[in-house]
Amino acid sequence: MQDKHDQKSGQRLTRPGGGAWQDPTRAVHAGPRPQAQRGLINPPVDRASTIIYDSVEAYMDRHQGLYDEVIYGLYGTRTTFALAEAVSELEAGHATVITSSGTSAIALTLTAFVGEGDHLLVADCVYGPTRKFLTDVLARFGVEVEYFRPDIGPEIAALCRGNTRLIYMETPGSQTFDMIDVPAIVAVARSRNILTAVDNTWATPLFFKPLAHGVDVSLASATKYLSGHSDCLLGTMTAGSEAIYRRLKDAAARWGNCASPDNCYLVHRGIRTLDARLERHQRTAATLIDWFLDQPEVVAVRYPAHPADPGHAIWKRDFAGASGLFGVQLDRLTSPETAAFFNELSLFQLGSSWGGFESLAVPAWPAPIRDFPSGEAEGALIRIHAGLEAPQDLIADLNAAFRRVRAMRDGKRTS
Ligand SMILES: *Cc1c(COP(=O)(O)O)cnc(C)c1O
Repeated sequence: MQDKHDQKSGQRLTRPGGGAWQDPTRAVHAGPRPQAQRGLINPPVDRASTIIYDSVEAYMDRHQGLYDEVIYGLYGTRTTFALAEAVSELEAGHATVITSSGTSAIALTLTAFVGEGDHLLVADCVYGPTRKFLTDVLARFGVEVEYFRPDIGPEIAALCRGNTRLIYMETPGSQTFDMIDVPAIVAVARSRNILTAVDNTWATPLFFKPLAHGVDVSLASATKYLSGHSDCLLGTMTAGSEAIYRRLKDAAARWGNCASPDNCYLVHRGIRTLDARLERHQRTAATLIDWFLDQPEVVAVRYPAHPADPGHAIWKRDFAGASGLFGVQLDRLTSPETAAFFNELSLFQLGSSWGGFESLAVPAWPAPIRDFPSGEAEGALIRIHAGLEAPQDLIADLNAAFRRVRAMRDGKRTS
């Protein structure tokens, strides 16, 4: 078969008959064509600090290449730029900066745009370390941070001031899975020249594309689903325009944030199977949720793809799918009973992070750090990550844990 693209330039593969590739195809082929990298299917791992130049003139001009050339290892090698290109394709964005972790992508997005005297609006449901960065770092630099209720919608207009610089969102939110009406908030922000950013870690660009809704920066922890194997850390910041991209790239350069080429390689490799993995994570999550809702101890699940979830309508309107992370609210469980539940689990492991192939279950206590607690703090909220194991085995594991809790309760009643 005749190759459709130039062997040397490695330009993008074009779809016969025109039009856009579907996301699963995009994930498999995202980034430079193999023909642009000596036939290698995945980008080679280029490790470098020093880059040498042919002439003193080229050396003196090197900083002009910061945004799209390999000029010094700190600012990325071909491996970094290849992943950035792949992520931009999936996010339907202009360009991407790869950072050392999701946490650094958050810190850099925030510091790239705000300064002393600026007002920042932040969704109350953001990831805990985001809140810590705002409190422990940005507040010291004279930035005023105000949290808003995740379900605020167009009423965010009442909170916007002349010095509001950025509206920062995460949807669904960490621990409580609150959905945010991103298009409504973007409409308000755009009419007032306020920038917007979304932490898109839960959905991945396969299930939600913030930039298509007019958001300025879509950022994520690639540590989670993009990597998919619980063994490396990386962050992504995708910009909707060249001006925004340059601000983000400048911020990463000034703070000396560097993504390891080895981790870029691993994440690029992970992206190849992202669609297949997410399909399975999603299916298993639905199976587990049906099972949980049949247990008498379960009051509710928090998963926007479930029709009973308060955020379901927004999810259905804006998202193309749901990942494998959800919350389960248990009623009237004492602390010893909750501890027994977790300690009885054997397939489900206890550990931070998620998005890998293995199932995880951890206690989640969001209320104390929130400005607007969601009210149902009694009992226990557990966070489940549905991994790639056989669903029936996961259910057997959960069954054993519930049996243990019930035995404790029966024991109490008879004594
Ligand atoms: C885990 C997580 C991060 C941070 O990612 P790291 O790569 O672990 O630094 C950011 N946002 C969300 C929503 C996360 O779940």
